[in-house]
Amino acid sequence: MPEYSTTSPLPPWLRSDYNGALRAADAGRAVALWGWVASRRDHGGLIFIDLRDYQGIVQLVFNPERDPAAHAVAEKARAEYYLAVKGTVVRRSENTINRELPTGEVEVVVTEAQILASSAPPPFPLVAGSEAASEELRLRYRYLDLRRAEMQSNLRRRHQALRGVRAWLDGQGFVEIETPILWKATPEGARDYLVPSRVNPGKFYALPQSPQLLKQLLMVSGFDRYYQIARCFRDEDLRANRQPEFSQIDIEMTGATVAGITAIAEGMMASAFEYAAGIKLVPPFPRIAYSEAMERFGSDKPDLRFAMELKNLSAAFAGTSFKVFADALGRGDAIYGLALPGACQLSRRELDEMVANMHTQRERGLTWAKATADGNWQGPIARHIGETERARAAAAAGLEPNGTLLLMAGAADEIRPALGDLRLQLAEKFDLRDDALHFLWVVDFPLFEYSAEERRLVSVNHPFTAPHPDDLALLEREPLKVRALAYDMVLNGQEMGGGSIRIHDPELQLLALKLLGFERDEAMRRFGFLIEALNYGAPPHGGIAFGVDRLAMMLCGTESLRDVMAFPKTQKAVDPMSGAPSEVDARQLRELSIKVTL
Ligand code: ASP
Repeated sequence: MPEYSTTSPLPPWLRSDYNGALRAADAGRAVALWGWVASRRDHGGLIFIDLRDYQGIVQLVFNPERDPAAHAVAEKARAEYYLAVKGTVVRRSENTINRELPTGEVEVVVTEAQILASSAPPPFPLVAGSEAASEELRLRYRYLDLRRAEMQSNLRRRHQALRGVRAWLDGQGFVEIETPILWKATPEGARDYLVPSRVNPGKFYALPQSPQLLKQLLMVSGFDRYYQIARCFRDEDLRANRQPEFSQIDIEMTGATVAGITAIAEGMMASAFEYAAGIKLVPPFPRIAYSEAMERFGSDKPDLRFAMELKNLSAAFAGTSFKVFADALGRGDAIYGLALPGACQLSRRELDEMVANMHTQRERGLTWAKATADGNWQGPIARHIGETERARAAAAAGLEPNGTLLLMAGAADEIRPALGDLRLQLAEKFDLRDDALHFLWVVDFPLFEYSAEERRLVSVNHPFTAPHPDDLALLEREPLKVRALAYDMVLNGQEMGGGSIRIHDPELQLLALKLLGFERDEAMRRFGFLIEALNYGAPPHGGIAFGVDRLAMMLCGTESLRDVMAFPKTQKAVDPMSGAPSEVDARQLRELSIKVTL
């Protein structure tokens, strides 16, 4: 049995200082400290303990001659015991100063000590920088993992970012309003989490995928400028960086224009970076149209930390005698190229692998040519390409001597994203990215895209996004050509947030839903409350939402969302600590009129 020096639930004395905050200027002060034993070194006579709290560690010294009672406590203390001590801060002698530690110039000579709680041996070391434990183990003992300095710093930085967000939005006249978690399915494109209603047997609430419709209703109500740090739920198969529940900075404004919302969002982002990292961003961020982003980068969230843009080489290869390219151009397809600088050399094997991968992944052909120092080409297609087209293609693609040109022929919509992916992989391989923060806006997304699976139009953003006013006439005739008043904020190849101006005219909303395959009755059944509300003087409005977890990841420089969330779930949507999700009692199911048929 562990030994306790007190059974009182109260600490014997209050803390005067945080361990990690003590400095040379505190020398001579009497202090009272609490904290966990980070390490303990018994030198036969003196015992040294590093005592940890969230601000850091400080070295305690226990002297058996001077303070035998305190020393006896130190003898019993083990890793992660929680101690309360009293003592005096003293300067360390010159040769024992620890320059690695902010508190390294001092130590605390302990005169009184109590063990407030003993600890089982921790399942993994909680020393800063130790990455030894597997993630499964870290999540199983998450409360201990969160004691580590990295996790403390990540979650506190996340909090600072949200302080920055709130400070900015409050200053701009936004009101924070909570919306329900038990609600109705809203279409953000993912599966809903359902919650059975006991008092309405057979009926279910859906957890919100986002407060989209509720925030629009708040505009109808006159709240003018709303925000919420909203919890959202999406039942998707979890890819590496997805969580079933996540937080979103959710914003909606009345009378909004694209320029107005993007300016508010830029100010908010700048405030978050300032509060959390002391980094000053300089809005306005550049903006490019979706069509241009796809053309130049093959992505709607371009990573601008390096150049290497895609080039349309169709004109350079016009009239080519190389059959594959000639056939493609004859079909109305395009030829795109991506030029790698001479400094980035891929071996023949790497190029062959890249070609083979592309073929299996996309059933699309990739080919390549290597420029020699004098501008000739080598590689599988070199002998099919005449001198003039070679010169034209090299100039158009920006191919340097000794550089490599990757080429694809096919429908632009298919080959540009494929080359866009290669662009990212090559930047990673050759370390081409700078370490600046490249923010940008991607605007003018298409309103709809065609889903081959569902054989109908689907929304690129969501069904409440307004069409671009210049494209209204195309809505029924050529819906796929209609641009949306939608915008995404992108940082270094990651989507930080996105939103749109909304439809506030009930008839236009019904038309948009009809184009998506919801006839009037079905539209009214699902979204009747919104359509009805739009009939009562709904002002023009628009908004945006940002992923808090992604923002925190960027600010903390972590690779995983799980490292900026207190209690995340695994990729199987499981919490290894509590065991959620779990079976429930038969009685509970009966009350809910639910039968499990597994
Ligand atoms: N509701 C959207 C989302 O969750 C964002 C928005 O349009 O404001 O992605």
